Amino acid sequence: SDDDRISRITSAIRVIPDFPKPGILFQDITTLLLDPVAFKDTIDLFVERYKDKDISVVAGVEARGFIFGPPIALAIGAKFVPMRKPNKLPGPVISEEYSLEYGKDKIEMHVGAVEAGDRALVIDDLIATGGTLCAAINLLERVGAHVVECACVIELPELKGRDRLGDKPLFVLVS
Ligand code: AMP
Repeated sequence: SDDDRISRITSAIRVIPDFPKPGILFQDITTLLLDPVAFKDTIDLFVERYKDKDISVVAGVEARGFIFGPPIALAIGAKFVPMRKPNKLPGPVISEEYSLEYGKDKIEMHVGAVEAGDRALVIDDLIATGGTLCAAINLLERVGAHVVECACVIELPELKGRDRLGDKPLFVLVS
């Protein structure tokens, strides 16, 4: 059942306290990747949700959106577009800055990878404050794409990232 699959996924995620700094409870999805059943269940749950939603592009956020995004894109017949940290993409890019707890960060996307009218799914491993997903949504909307939904394996609900996404739907497997 779906509940059994979610339980197995939840159990396969390792939680590491005080990484990368004191007070952070790091949700480590590399242990999920070590369990082929739980990893496949993760991808299947997303594919089941998005296969009939006419998604034309799966946009994955660096770095762990690059793990979950491509198998979903292949299964639903969509293109995969990486949204990268600054100065990694070799071609012309558009970029979007966003604020962190301390300082700023930026994500970039190749010009032309996503076109007006594309229907996008944004994927990352985890939503905390929602800043990263917001920046991804903005980038996609700036080039005229319609963001159908954001999807993450994990949500940290106490950080209220979902509220920051406004009326943009967010789907998560583990909260
Ligand atoms: P945010 O922009 O605040 O929603 O942060 C989300 C991004 O930071 C994602 O790309 C996550 O991979 C990473 N992240 C934030 N908090 C954690 C955490 N507690 N464990 C693992 N990854 C995290």
